[in-house]
Amino acid sequence: MSGRDMAKPLLGHRTIEGDPSITPAAGRTIGVLGSGDFARSLAIRLVCSGFKVVVGSRNPRRKAGLFPSAAEVTLQAEAVKKTDVIFVAVFREHYSTLCDLADVLVGKILVDVSNNTEINHHKESNAEYLASLFPACTVVKGFNVVSAWTLQSGARDGNKQVLICSDNQEAKRTVAEIAQVMGFTPVDMGCMSSASEIENIPLRLLPAWKIPIFLALGLFICFFTYNLIRQVIHPYIREQKNKLYKIPIEVVNTTLPCVAYVMLSLVYLPGVLAACSQLYYGTKYRRFPDWLDQWLQHRKQIGLLSFFCAALHAVYSFCLPMRRSHRYQLIETAVKQAVEKKMNIWVEEEVWRMEIYISVGIIALGLLSLLAITSLPSIANSLNWREFSFIQSTLGFIALVISTLHTLTYGWSRAFDENQYKFYLPPTYTLTLLVPCTVILAKVIFNLPCIQQRLQRIRRGWEKGRYVKFVLPSATGEYSSGETSSNV
Ligand code: NAP
Repeated sequence: MSGRDMAKPLLGHRTIEGDPSITPAAGRTIGVLGSGDFARSLAIRLVCSGFKVVVGSRNPRRKAGLFPSAAEVTLQAEAVKKTDVIFVAVFREHYSTLCDLADVLVGKILVDVSNNTEINHHKESNAEYLASLFPACTVVKGFNVVSAWTLQSGARDGNKQVLICSDNQEAKRTVAEIAQVMGFTPVDMGCMSSASEIENIPLRLLPAWKIPIFLALGLFICFFTYNLIRQVIHPYIREQKNKLYKIPIEVVNTTLPCVAYVMLSLVYLPGVLAACSQLYYGTKYRRFPDWLDQWLQHRKQIGLLSFFCAALHAVYSFCLPMRRSHRYQLIETAVKQAVEKKMNIWVEEEVWRMEIYISVGIIALGLLSLLAITSLPSIANSLNWREFSFIQSTLGFIALVISTLHTLTYGWSRAFDENQYKFYLPPTYTLTLLVPCTVILAKVIFNLPCIQQRLQRIRRGWEKGRYVKFVLPSATGEYSSGETSSNV
């Protein structure tokens, strides 16, 4: 997906839902051409929504049993005569077989619900192709983003948005009205030239997730390699010890928290950079560079991936004592201590370190879970802006601080132990602290009253060096105009 596409959020378009000019249309007769999966689900949903449905099939006798009894199943030509709005639930390659119906279709609205098998499969969209075959009809593109399953499962389930476009405003309004009565949210995507974009939407594979997934994978590979060198290659080279068994669990489990922690800080770093830019230029009206814009748009996905890695880390950690290697090591240590006649193995400092380490880890995971849950659209929609921003911004930042405490208690004094510097490489956790600590420090600085006030003024529209017009009364009582800096 290109940067330009990313700038067009699905929800950013005008919803027709709240349009007062739309009136309920239940009771009207709707035609459906085709008797396949989509046609059947559509007919069921239309009937349930109070519409009369007439289905046009090449073989009505054979297909009638598949439709609800309230829907009339007849020959294609008969069906289209009975209605002005016809859903064409037929694949593009079969559109030309409908040309025999051209005379009876004159002046009618055709709803193109078709999808392609590849992005930008044809030069012209399916809807434009249908319009070229039936120039005396008005074609509306819509309903292709909802599946037959969503249509059947009703308004409670699945995606509720129906993207609609057409060159004819009246026809678009009629189809939007039908969608709304069916329990969907019609979204106006403009004129027919948007049809290709609408047809591509169901074919896109996680477009908003590509960059965050590559980022997480990149971080995982880097930290994994680093940990592998420290935990497996170093003991092999220095002591000829085979520690390969550590790869599937231990190395992975030391890598996951690093990725989770750095990813969490990367959720807040673009906000810090944006604030720096606003402070530097003294305005909020200057566009951020594209990379920062993209980064800001992907924060939710980055945060969710951070939560995913943190949850995996928790499960892995929970399973550590189950490993055979762990049991052997425990027994080995116990035997050694028995041989050395060591009775008291309690190390108070270690006990406290571990208690605090686990406790803050659980709290951090709890907060991350809260952030993840509230980023789900259904939950986010039930929160007002203040609640949402409190959870995502304030609690999120607290989660970052607590994760930092978790990391610091893990390291404790080991950063100062020279044995920890395998091949002169510092322990992994010291590297992970770099970005999060920078973010925390920056946030603390931004909260200093002098900086916070300036930032708040900028975000309310104040600009450095902006001149405002003022008007002064002259000695003669007339008014003269001049300019002053709003800085003053
Ligand atoms: P389908 O089960 O294969 O049904 C296609 C129907 O087209 C057939 O049942 C047939 O009905 C009719 N048809 C008319 N002329 C035809 C011809 N010359 N050759 C073959 N069939 C002909 O397909 P579908 O899944 O319902 O999909 C129909 C349209 O909806 C497609 O454009 C698809 O992209 C779109 N769509 C489907 C879904 C989905 O979830 N299935 C979702 C979004 C969009 P008669 O034999 O009764 O004439």
